[in-house]
Amino acid sequence: MADYRQMWNDLGMDMENHDALCQVLPTAVGDVFLTQENRPKAMDFWDLVISEVHGIRPAELIEEQKKGRKVFGTFCVYVPDEVVIAADGIVTGLCGGSQFWVPDGEKVLPKSTCPLVKASVGARLGRTCPFFRIADMYVGETTCDGKKKAYEILSEDVPMYVMDVPQMKREKDILKWKDEIAQFARKVEEFTGNEITSEKLAKAIHIINEKRKAMQRVYDCRKSKCLPISGRDTLLMTQISFFDDPERCAQMCNRLADELEERIQNGVSVVSQDTKRILVTGTPLAVPNWKLHNLIETSGAAVVCEEMCTGTRYFENLVDETQTTLDGQFMALSERYMKTNCACFTPNTGRIDDILRLAEEYKVDGVIDCSLKFCCLYDTEKYSVSRALKKAGIPCLSLETDYDDADAGQLRTRIGAFIEMLS
Ligand code: SF4
Ligand code: SF4
Repeated sequence: MADYRQMWNDLGMDMENHDALCQVLPTAVGDVFLTQENRPKAMDFWDLVISEVHGIRPAELIEEQKKGRKVFGTFCVYVPDEVVIAADGIVTGLCGGSQFWVPDGEKVLPKSTCPLVKASVGARLGRTCPFFRIADMYVGETTCDGKKKAYEILSEDVPMYVMDVPQMKREKDILKWKDEIAQFARKVEEFTGNEITSEKLAKAIHIINEKRKAMQRVYDCRKSKCLPISGRDTLLMTQISFFDDPERCAQMCNRLADELEERIQNGVSVVSQDTKRILVTGTPLAVPNWKLHNLIETSGAAVVCEEMCTGTRYFENLVDETQTTLDGQFMALSERYMKTNCACFTPNTGRIDDILRLAEEYKVDGVIDCSLKFCCLYDTEKYSVSRALKKAGIPCLSLETDYDDADAGQLRTRIGAFIEMLS
């Protein structure tokens, strides 16, 4: 592993605490990923990236900053990457997925805040994540209350821009989101000093659409009864896609999809044919949160799809590429992003439709609906999700969890019993 200590020091990181974090990550990666058998060879790219997650990509971002490019840190799949890329900016995901950052978050936030928000704030204020140090501007959004209030605290420490996401999806809300995207574009132009033209935006839309298509190709392979990749490996691919350069991400996902398609043709599966197939739905699983997938897949089942923001919500639906004016492109972006079904919207029946559709497409035996503790939105929607699945005759297990491992034993028991029941 290259020596990144000077870089971390220059970023003003808390070196002592960061050392402690660096010590636990390799063990987690080894336990969750490297113990798997018969993995696709193309996973070598993501294994390398995750093994040096605080080194390789941060170093690249710093090199780009030296050339004058700005880095925008985002927390939600509603923030349109296309706008930033059209101004020659770079987007990096900033959602915290480790218990390590939670105590620093709890110094300024109520304990009864969801761990994703606490970890994100803790990663910034505790100075133990390079991505949170590198981003020139944070872009938040008015989705859940926990995030909205956390952005107020973060804005005292770092330039912050908050996009006003509608709460409903009526015609007027789609128009409002279009205006919000146009306003964001003006902010990005001002911050980067680069004008966004319709030509540049068209190119950016194409780049992100190609990334979405490549990720969809990988997911399509999971629909096969001959399962060529584990849920853990696919989750890692998706999590890293929030940080990576979008064109390289598309290239690597297409390379993986090529191998998976060949595996299916040759009958190479990572599990036996009678393994129970699980769709997971709920709150996002930000890196390095692999707890749920690890528990399911070491209990004898396979995760074949994620109806999550670290899953299908991230890449399903393309932006219309036929628009040639900025106005038309902003509308096309609004229409695409408003098709994403997050529990912060009301009503949110589209998510139920998505879960039922995906359960059929991915031929699942059961659904695990898991929300992070203190996420009122997804916790409340469990009622409608389980009712719809019951009506459709699809077994469902509802869970709630945190980032720490204290409940792992209890979760394993419940997941094990659910899988046994599916048999
Ligand atoms: S769950 Fe909702 S708020 Fe969270 S990242 Fe997804 S869309 Fe954004
Ligand atoms: S998991 Fe729920 S509470 Fe946490 S940030 Fe996402 S929407 Fe908000």
